[in-house]
Amino acid sequence: HAIKAGEKRIQFYTADFLQCMQRQLKIEHCLKQAIETQELKVFFQPKYDLTNNKIVGMEALLRWTHHELGPIPPDEFIAIAENAGLIVNIGRYVLNACAQLISKLQAENKFCVPIAVNISGHHFSQANVFKDVQQALLLFNIAPEYIEIEITENVVMMDYDIVIDQLTQLKALGVQISIDDFGTGHSSLERLAKLPIDSLKIDRSFVLNLNEQPQTQAIIKAVLSLSAALGLKSVAEGIETISQEQFLRSNECTLGQGFLFAKPIAEDEMIALLNTQSDIKD
Ligand code: C2E
Ligand code: MG
Ligand code: MG
Ligand code: MG
Repeated sequence: HAIKAGEKRIQFYTADFLQCMQRQLKIEHCLKQAIETQELKVFFQPKYDLTNNKIVGMEALLRWTHHELGPIPPDEFIAIAENAGLIVNIGRYVLNACAQLISKLQAENKFCVPIAVNISGHHFSQANVFKDVQQALLLFNIAPEYIEIEITENVVMMDYDIVIDQLTQLKALGVQISIDDFGTGHSSLERLAKLPIDSLKIDRSFVLNLNEQPQTQAIIKAVLSLSAALGLKSVAEGIETISQEQFLRSNECTLGQGFLFAKPIAEDEMIALLNTQSDIKD
């Protein structure tokens, strides 16, 4: 009996594993087309100044609904794209989409804020992020200040030698740089102080547990004072409740992003939202 049960388990795991592999292969295959057919959509989530609730930036976030598989979360397809050698194309695609939106807003004389693009560590090692950003800026004739790069803490720390030159060049050009998911990875404080960056984004997991856990409040306060001491802006991601927002504001977190303010929205909706902002006078 014991053997039989064991056999069943092995069969179960194998079928599961195969199904998972099949899904990954299918996603990889479809992803190539999704870039070309623009099935892959760039959405935008606003970033707010917590002192006056004005939109001061936005983050580009990819959305993909496959006609057969349905919505596929970026956490799933980005990892597949990285392993399939597709992430550089995706990075360029998003950079160009953002530069295009900026140029459109400026051509129509609309209220315009910088857009942050998430760049994978693989992009830094497989291509040159500085050159790709420069290319997008030239193509759409926009100022470097309107593009921001988000790179995760682990990538910066672990691939330090690969990323540092490209980050330094980007910073010199006038592109803003922020460290994403800060607090969840392994940071060398010595390296952090030397990085050519503008802001730290406090990971959503801290904001999520903020009201229940005094330890988490202590961590957030420590990160906020570290950030201020280094002359950086701080951005809290994943703000969902008023009490989270109040805690962050009263501890001088500079910027906030989260469902409390707005979810990631399509380009048209973002343009409409920016238009309502331009009506608000100081
Ligand atoms: P991230 O860069 O840390 O992005 C923040 C994530 O938090 C986004 O998830 C966003 O939708 C979500 N979020 C924002 N506010 C809230 C909130 O109040 N509550 C909750 N529950 N979630 C919130 P999303 O869009 O699923 O993206 C997940 C990750 O996928 C991103 O994390 C980023 O690492 C990656 N990603 C997304 N788009 C791109 C892209 O264009 N390029 C690359 N390389 N990575 C991307
Ligand atoms: Mg991000
Ligand atoms: Mg993040
Ligand atoms: Mg993340």
